[in-house]
Amino acid sequence: MKIEPSVKYSHTILSQVIKPGDNVIDATVGKGNDTEFMANLVGNHGHVYGFDLQEEAIKYTKKRLTDKSLINNVDLFNTGHENIHSYVDKPISAAIFNLGYLPGSDKNIITKPETTLSALQDCLNLLSVNGIVIAVIYYGHDGGKEEKNAVLDWAKKLDQKKYTSLQYQFINQIHCPPILLAIQKKSN
Ligand code: SAM
Repeated sequence: MKIEPSVKYSHTILSQVIKPGDNVIDATVGKGNDTEFMANLVGNHGHVYGFDLQEEAIKYTKKRLTDKSLINNVDLFNTGHENIHSYVDKPISAAIFNLGYLPGSDKNIITKPETTLSALQDCLNLLSVNGIVIAVIYYGHDGGKEEKNAVLDWAKKLDQKKYTSLQYQFINQIHCPPILLAIQKKSN
């Protein structure tokens, strides 16, 4: 057994939680790694709602999913995740965020504390009991530490009767290894 890095562990958690037929959210589509992973898990009767500010990311992922015949159960929205509440009104079993910037793209387009927190809260509002919201937090870039602190402060204050909140990170690695935050809903 090898202890998994945060990104790999996020997929291990998603694969335990998401069942065929579920509705789920990818709040930061980027190149579509998580979108594709979740589209395979929800199957033909489920649905993935994907959000990204960058048109380039949405176009890239649309092609990727079309090539793999997965696009029929995915809706991709070229808008900020702070608008999730305007696009999704069904209960979800999972949501994932990869915070930071898209590697190989414009490093000035980063996720930001205020909009990230508003989207995380929207996802908790849509979450079914036992469902999980994950944030993989990259914070080595300018502005990253402020966002990391804001998200972890928010997650630490969630009512423990309603949510379990987990922080997972290698602590002896250089270069700010990403933190995985996983929040599970225990009750309504
Ligand atoms: N999961 C992605 C993948 O598989 O490639 C990587 C995501 S990347 C770390 C972060 C993404 O968040 C970027 O594509 C960026 O455009 C997007 N982003 C930044 N602010 C956003 C916002 N307010 N709403 C939605 N997406 C946002």
